[in-house]
Parts: sequence; structure tokens; C-alpha cells
Amino acid sequence: MPRTPLVAANWKMHTTHEEADRLAREIAAGAAAVQDVDVVVCPPSCYLMPVGAALAEQKGGALGSQDVSEIVGTGAHTGDISGAMVRDCGGTYAIVGHSERRATRGEDDACVARKFEAAQAAGLIPILCVGETLEERDGGETDAVLARQLGAVLEQVGIAAFATAVVAYEPVWAIGTGRSASPEQAQAAHARLRATLAASDAKIADSVRILYGGSVKADNAAELFAQDDVDGGLIGGASLKAEQFNAIVKAAGNH
Ligand code: PEP
Repeated sequence: MPRTPLVAANWKMHTTHEEADRLAREIAAGAAAVQDVDVVVCPPSCYLMPVGAALAEQKGGALGSQDVSEIVGTGAHTGDISGAMVRDCGGTYAIVGHSERRATRGEDDACVARKFEAAQAAGLIPILCVGETLEERDGGETDAVLARQLGAVLEQVGIAAFATAVVAYEPVWAIGTGRSASPEQAQAAHARLRATLAASDAKIADSVRILYGGSVKADNAAELFAQDDVDGGLIGGASLKAEQFNAIVKAAGNH
């Protein structure tokens, strides 16, 4: 099944209001110029609305959040942002389970699964991040880690939920390090993830977009995106430079 590539920008805790507006406009212009690639921008949550407005004005790219509360509804949850709030700000996607949150905010597999479910309950498309640490890879545990992280979400929401979800393979050792997975390493992990989904439903597995994330740059994007099971990228550092990011989007459009 042909899958429309998706390239998502994760700005993390970067930009100012002014920079976010400028960057969003430049990215939207780049997205509008490329056919058949979905582009998503995930700014810091305080900039969701202005970035959404800038993207809409330039007619390019969708809006996403970098995280979402696992709690549905409203209540006394200081600092949390609900899926409904992200939707209310114009968001359509939400990253869940980014390794930085797993590592520094104590988000375990069960918590990530609840966030995935909460995002979908609000009508958002979750971008579920999974990936092994270097220690796990060196210990030959990559497949087991991916199966465990994906399995926790499958158990919580069921395979049908993946018809409206995105998965991102993000090896922790490749994030922000300048050391990307090789195209072969990425393809092997993506194929494993798709096979895990296919064990429950082959048709849904075939339709799910699996993004690669981890030091993707303009000069290595094309070879990563050329892999059969790599359907785009989740981009951190390189998404803070419109020229770099737009070149990555263009590379996705060529596959
Ligand atoms: C990320 O944070 O999801 C990421 C992939 O970062 P970078 O592109 O900087 O490695």
C-alpha cells in the first residue's frame, strides 16, 4: 500500500514567540511547495496557537503537540495540557512517549499507552515514539524493547486504534547525537515494528506510517526515506532551521 510520507518537526524547548512565528512561516512555505508529503510542526505548547495561525496563513503544514496529558477532561492537574486543549488550539497530532520524557519525566510504557489513548479520545493522531538505548542495542535487546514498548500500547488500545496513529522509531543513541541509524538499521527496526502490528492485522500494519527519528539531516534523509518501511521522519535539531527542514521534506517527496 502506498503510504503518504510524513515529516514532523519537534522543536522541543526551543524558540521564542518571534522565532516560532518566523520558522513556522518558512516551514509552511516549504510544505506548500512539495506535493504528497504531510508536514507537522510541534512547537512548545505555549506557541501552539500562534504557530497554528502562521501555518494556516501560509497554507502549509499541520499542528501538533510534543506531549499530552494522560488525563481526559479537566481538573486539578497543574502543568498538564489535555488532548482537548491541543485540539482547541488547532492541533491534530500529538507526540507521545518521546524518549526524553521516558528518561527524564519517568514516563513508563503504561503511562505512554494511556497518553496514546487520551490523545485519540480527543481526536488527535498520536505519534508514538519507541526506541532502544545504546546499551540495549549492544546487549542485543532492540527487538525485545520495541516489542515491549509497542505491545504496551497495543494491549491498551487494540490494533484498530493504529488505523489513525503514527509510529516513530527513534533509537535513543541517535537522538541529538549527530549519529543517525544506518538505513539498514532503520529498515530492520521498522520492519520489526510493522511485523508486530501485522501479527494483529496485516491491513492496518500496511497502512501505518512509521517514521524514523534520530539525527536526520538534509544530507542523510534521502537514503533513510528510500527504505521500504521508512515513511518519513521525526526531526529535532534540523527542524529549527527552515532550510534544512524543508530539504528533508523535499527528500520525502521524492520517494
Ligand atoms: C527527536 O527529538 O525526536 C529527534 C529525532 O531529534 P534529532 O533530530 O535532533 O536527533
